[in-house]
Amino acid sequence: MTHSNGDAMNDIKKKIISCMDDYDPDALTVEKAREAILACLSPIEGVERVAVRSSLGRILAEDVISPIDVPAHDNSAMDGYALRGADLKPDCETRLREVGVAYAGRAYEGEVKPGECVRIMTGAVMPRGTDTVVIQEVVDRDGDVVIVPPGEKPGQNVRSAGEDLASGKPALKAGTLVRPAELGLMASLGMAEVAVRRRLRVAFFSTGDELASVGSVLKEGEVYDSNRYTLYGMLARMGAELIDMGVVRDDRASLEQAFLQASAHADVVITSGGVSVGEADYTRELLERLGEVLFWKIAMKPGRPMAFGRIGKAWFFGLPGNPVAVMVTFYQFVRDALFTLAGRGGDFRVPLLQVPCASAMRKRPGRTEFQRGILYCEGGRWQVRVTGSQGSGVLRSMSEANCFIVLEHERGSVQPGELVSVQVMDGLV
Ligand code: AMP
Ligand code: MG
Repeated sequence: MTHSNGDAMNDIKKKIISCMDDYDPDALTVEKAREAILACLSPIEGVERVAVRSSLGRILAEDVISPIDVPAHDNSAMDGYALRGADLKPDCETRLREVGVAYAGRAYEGEVKPGECVRIMTGAVMPRGTDTVVIQEVVDRDGDVVIVPPGEKPGQNVRSAGEDLASGKPALKAGTLVRPAELGLMASLGMAEVAVRRRLRVAFFSTGDELASVGSVLKEGEVYDSNRYTLYGMLARMGAELIDMGVVRDDRASLEQAFLQASAHADVVITSGGVSVGEADYTRELLERLGEVLFWKIAMKPGRPMAFGRIGKAWFFGLPGNPVAVMVTFYQFVRDALFTLAGRGGDFRVPLLQVPCASAMRKRPGRTEFQRGILYCEGGRWQVRVTGSQGSGVLRSMSEANCFIVLEHERGSVQPGELVSVQVMDGLV
């Protein structure tokens, strides 16, 4: 692939137009924008081996093939008595002689013969000759004789060797995001190290003459640069390697310098501000020289203007300036793009759940809205309501929210009690 300005320029636009029949950069639906972005991206190269614990939040570069059966042996799923299923009498009680005990980690060494049983603990290896466990609560005892009532099934309460993971079979697929379950699973295979994709390098900066840095005293007309903090948080949680480039003033030379520096070092460059009407013309001219960037007006609220494309070797996301719009466009477009670039496989879209809505919401068809919502439980029933002010500059609405209420493109106003689509913001730890 070439990244010289002219060729690359037409590459992206062509690719997008060829995979979309109704491409209109001034009125893209959320779905089309998402599709367009993902159609351009493929995973970065680069693999490293890390200790299993360090793979948390990383993406597996190779299938993990199980070197052993898990569990390694047939073992008991319950505390009780291990016996031969063939000994069980279907219609009357079965009397067996207890000949020993099997503990987890300390097996019963002998063979259990017909008419015998062994007291067994959960996780203990099934003694030779046995294939069935009867739980301790149902038996009666008479000295060393164990009395099993009728109705117990041969083969019950036994975990078979290889039932979790069979030796030689893939236990985890390349592209899997490592969560606590995967850490445990790899540990259960005895693995100390694993191959993961390298981290994505993401450079980000804020643009605007009005931006002040935290710690300074605000002058008239200034606002603190909060976007770099929300972006930092979202990117850090995604496990990216961060290049924080600070605030860049709205002047051509500084912006050009920043774009060149960012794209030389990063896989992805993310900016906020500078893509709204007026500012866009200016950024457009600059970015047209440096790469191929498409300016979009997306039919959504908040987050209407957005730029996407390539600068040098890096992918570029020009997010709007409004603090809520930054977060919404990040979650709706950048998140999935970064996962795709990072090599994550499977369906990792944020699930949309249907939940009854307690609030009325005014909405006109023709754009997708992402209202900030609070999922709450009342009278044993989960429902959702909107946070207070929904202004795209009101970051408090994001902080109060635990979900987005997604009002689809064609949808009109919502009456209390209607089902709405909801995206939960946080997963389990
Ligand atoms: P822009 O897209 O640059 O026109 O900015 C839109 C609005 O978002 C303006 O009110 C800006 O002051 C505000 N804004 C832009 N960048 C930031 C930032 N980094 N932190 C907080 N507010 C911002
Ligand atoms: Mg600005």
